[in-house]
Amino acid sequence: MESSKAKFENKSPSVAGLSYHEMLTRALQKIPKDIQTPISIEMPQFNVQKETTRTIILNWGEIIDKYNIDEKLLLRFLQKRLGTIGMPQHGKLYLQGAFTRVRLNRLLEVFMKEYVICDVCGRPHSTIIREKGKLIKKCLACGAWRAVEKP
Ligand SMILES: [Zn+2]
Repeated sequence: MESSKAKFENKSPSVAGLSYHEMLTRALQKIPKDIQTPISIEMPQFNVQKETTRTIILNWGEIIDKYNIDEKLLLRFLQKRLGTIGMPQHGKLYLQGAFTRVRLNRLLEVFMKEYVICDVCGRPHSTIIREKGKLIKKCLACGAWRAVEKP
């Protein structure tokens, strides 16, 4: 019984000279690593240095790089919400006015959910595409997309 069963399994059809198992292995290898693993996003947090007349976001460049964020978009978003102007310089952001760490991080979280984190797969791999004056958020991991409001 055992040997005949083994023979039957070996007869699984081969495609292009590859067995089912080989094809499966190849297919899995083609999927990027981060799609195979479950999602666990840690919301990024600004490191903030608050002074009397200005606020400095110390890890601005780090967060921009890590999440491949559209810097102009995030800057515009913050400027609009805070009613001030900001100047990125050497990986830091200098904001005119004094703002708390809590307020800035709350805004960062809103921004991440709206412009960075995919609504379908939940991964922080979205890119912002400008098309005919509109903004499209497209996920590079799963391909989902949707129009988003300009900040
Ligand atoms: Zn996605």
